[in-house]
Amino acid sequence: MEGLSISSEPPSCNLAGKLKPELAEFIENPASRPQCWYDWKWQLKNRITSLEVIRELIPLTRREEEGIKRATGRLAMAITPYFFSLIDRQDPKCPIRKQAIPRLEEFSVASCEMIDPCGEDSHAPVPGLVHRYPDRALLIVTDSCAMYCRYCTRKRMVGEEHPPMSIERFEDAYKYIKSKKSIRDVLISGGDPLMMKTEILEHYISRLRSIPHLEIIRIGTRVPVTLPMRVNDELVSMLRKYHPLYLSIHFSHPKEITPEVSTACAKLADAGIPLGSQTVLLKGINDKPSIMKKLMHELLKARVRPYYLYQCDMAMGTSHFRTPVSVGMNIIEELRGHTTGYAVPTFVVDAPGGGGKIPVAPTYLISQAKGKVTLRNYENKIFNYTEPE
Ligand SMILES: *Cc1c(COP(=O)(O)O)cnc(C)c1O
Ligand code: SF4
Repeated sequence: MEGLSISSEPPSCNLAGKLKPELAEFIENPASRPQCWYDWKWQLKNRITSLEVIRELIPLTRREEEGIKRATGRLAMAITPYFFSLIDRQDPKCPIRKQAIPRLEEFSVASCEMIDPCGEDSHAPVPGLVHRYPDRALLIVTDSCAMYCRYCTRKRMVGEEHPPMSIERFEDAYKYIKSKKSIRDVLISGGDPLMMKTEILEHYISRLRSIPHLEIIRIGTRVPVTLPMRVNDELVSMLRKYHPLYLSIHFSHPKEITPEVSTACAKLADAGIPLGSQTVLLKGINDKPSIMKKLMHELLKARVRPYYLYQCDMAMGTSHFRTPVSVGMNIIEELRGHTTGYAVPTFVVDAPGGGGKIPVAPTYLISQAKGKVTLRNYENKIFNYTEPE
């Protein structure tokens, strides 16, 4: 891994040269050698990245075998042993498995699909900084993730081809943000910012904090879900120095909220970091209202406030993950009023080509006449509201 120093580890953790049976043993029984399993660098060093290893660990379908073969050398694939251990080996429909293991369908590209579906590259005034909205900017600091989601909207750029954003390139982004007084919010993203060494991440956050007009800093990450052991005391005590700092965590399925993930969220929340969630609506993974409701409830239990539910972007080879927009609207309809208001995220479509996030909600306003509006509630009962003269 670029930019990471691997800690010295007990000899029993060293899998070099005998990966297959040993890794299977670890995945079977993580508690047997916790000093390795709970070391995030061990998890990264032992990620599953090849057909040979996956094949030893689970029976693959023909479409998966073919998908992995085609992805090799073209699209990033890596799965932490931790995330891999959540896969149901007997079930090809397992929601964890479908997110992590390429399938042949990933190589059928629909004519509408794009390399850069949200037009990020065309809205970058300096490399690595996307400035679409006047008051906030998105800073892409690395192309590494702990696990590569098959539906990633930034497929074009993820995959450890490049080292984390260099200090020099960061300085250009920093100067731009400093010169634009209208920017009051910077969202640090990637790849995954928590893949970087804590010192490097701290360097970027502290530089940003020194800009007087920057009110809030946000980090977008999936690491607390795919590599929860990364959320250790060292990281949390660094982050808590830079309040107000918000974290948006990418979750897809209730199965992802394990005791390890709940512990990671609790550490962050205890450090005063407000936690929000982001979820991509995915066919056959979380497109049923009952699964989404369960996910939202589990998030609230883990002290994460649901933030966005995204329509899956038109990235290359995502047709097998995409649903009609009406599926998302129906999910929101089944949540709103039927459960805690905090459990209802905003459903958005990120406009293809770069118009930003557009909320799409079920309509509760039935008609609007002079001085009077007619509304329906979650049970479809009709109500009138009379406006002041
Ligand atoms: C999503 C996004 C943001 C942040 O949007 P919010 O609605 O404020 O969360 C900012 N810039 C870009 C380019 C984005 O894609
Ligand atoms: S964590 Fe985010 S950036 Fe990384 S592969 Fe998944 S969707 Fe893409």
